[in-house]
This record gives sequence, C-alpha cells and structure tokens, in this order.
Amino acid sequence: MLENIVEFFKSLPDKICVKCGEKIEEQSECYTNTCDKCSSL
Ligand SMILES: [Zn+2]
Repeated sequence: MLENIVEFFKSLPDKICVKCGEKIEEQSECYTNTCDKCSSL
C-alpha cells in the first residue's frame, strides 16, 4: 500500500514557479504556483 503512494508522487510532474521558472520543492503549498522566493516578495 505504501509503495503505491510513493509511486504516485514519483509520477507527479515537477511544479515550476510561474514567475522565475525554478522547480518548486514545497509540495505542501498546493495552492501556489510560485516558489518561496517569489511568493515572499
Ligand atoms: Zn520563483
């Protein structure tokens, strides 16, 4: 069961910041499309 969840997250495409194009590491903030740098500006 747990392995299926891991595979699910692996299959997700990388989120890209819409402002600078950097890959977003924070998966918890699903509602934002910007990275920490841009969202804090
Ligand atoms: Zn950014």
